[in-house]
Amino acid sequence: MANSYDVIVAGVGGMGSAACWHLAQRGQRVLGLERFDLGHGMGSSHGLTRIIRLAYFEGSHYVPMLKRAHQLWKETGEAANTQLLYVTGSIDLAPEGAGFVESSLASCIEHGLAHEVLDARAIAARFPAFKLTPQHKGLWQPDGGFVASERAIYAHAGLAMARGAEIRTNEPILSWRPTAHGGVEVTTARGTYSAGKLILSAGAWNPELAQALAPNAAVVKQTIGWFAVSKPALFQPDRFPVFILTVDEGNFYGFPLWEHPGFKLGGPHFARQPFDPNDSERVANEGQVDAIRQCLARYIPDAAGAPLTVRACMYTVTPDEHFVIDALPGAEQVTLLSCCSGHGYKFASVIGEIAADLATTGQSAFDLSPFSLARFQKAAA
Ligand SMILES: Cc1cc2nc3c(=O)[nH]c(=O)nc-3n(C[C@H](O)[C@H](O)[C@H](O)COP(=O)(O)OP(=O)(O)OC[C@H]3O[C@@H](n4cnc5c(N)ncnc54)[C@H](O)[C@@H]3O)c2cc1C
Repeated sequence: MANSYDVIVAGVGGMGSAACWHLAQRGQRVLGLERFDLGHGMGSSHGLTRIIRLAYFEGSHYVPMLKRAHQLWKETGEAANTQLLYVTGSIDLAPEGAGFVESSLASCIEHGLAHEVLDARAIAARFPAFKLTPQHKGLWQPDGGFVASERAIYAHAGLAMARGAEIRTNEPILSWRPTAHGGVEVTTARGTYSAGKLILSAGAWNPELAQALAPNAAVVKQTIGWFAVSKPALFQPDRFPVFILTVDEGNFYGFPLWEHPGFKLGGPHFARQPFDPNDSERVANEGQVDAIRQCLARYIPDAAGAPLTVRACMYTVTPDEHFVIDALPGAEQVTLLSCCSGHGYKFASVIGEIAADLATTGQSAFDLSPFSLARFQKAAA
């Protein structure tokens, strides 16, 4: 039947493109519907790169998924004849007792991840670009690195299309409804489509498509920038890692030089501005740019040059900062991904695979209970 599919994927960004690939790989008839162009800069996944860390202070229960994500980024890059994963090592940097280094260490110990704890002197000797306080310590994990996030959307979508997936861009979904026989009907500005299953991977627009999520999802704006460096040799990917850094001024995160002449730094992580994704402006927050520049001047002075590029980006946060991967209450044929609370891109490869598993078998190899919608009701009770 025309306009009829096994699965419709609502939103072809980080998560949705991966879901399209894993579904198409299983022989499913897939339709991906995307509001904007493929790889646009209006959502949550632009800005060239995203950090992947396996030492996970957010919770050791993420580590099995991270291991699989890591493997999939490598395999998918090979399948698409490109490189999606760059392993540079990751370092978590914070003053003694600040908490998150200890939590990252605990996840390394529990899951047998290679790691080293470095004191301030060892950090300075190994990575001379950092000028930190004597109280800082670091957790080094050699498997961390970054994912080429924009490239990965093209890679996932390209692989999916090569296996027969249809991807329609500039076609926003206006509404969807469950059908009497247990499927879904989806209406866009250009047509109506039916499918057995629906995956909602619309990022910051997920709360509009899933009322059950809306009370527990806040969309916020963040600013990132690339700054001129005075000693580029210090920041090359073969000698400088991805990092997260806690200092008096807040939590920041950064990358080695890659595909851009500037040094990329984001933060402060919790300086979040509520944001309406339907606002057509994506203007960087000047206060945040100033905070980033002050952090660079004080702690990474060889990367504290002029801003070369600044970008605004959004993400969707839940009250406990954990993900949502769950069926919608009352509509088991609809899977909601992902509300990743600012730390989700690294998982897109495995979340795509999980979405395909749920759509085709109703099950996942991973324990998804920490990501249920029901946890919000339990917390409120
Ligand atoms: C500044 C910043 C830094 C970050 N750093 C990291 C990091 O270092 N590591 C990490 O792991 N994570 C990081 N994250 C988080 C990560 O980037 C996000 O969790 C991830 O990109 C979310 O992907 P997504 O697919 O849910 O959203 P998106 O990639 O935005 O995809 C959603 C798609 O749905 C489309 N859409 C929306 N509504 C509709 C509709 N009605 N019809 C059709 N299509 C629709 C959108 O246009 C969009 O393309 C960061 C986020 C930001 C903003």
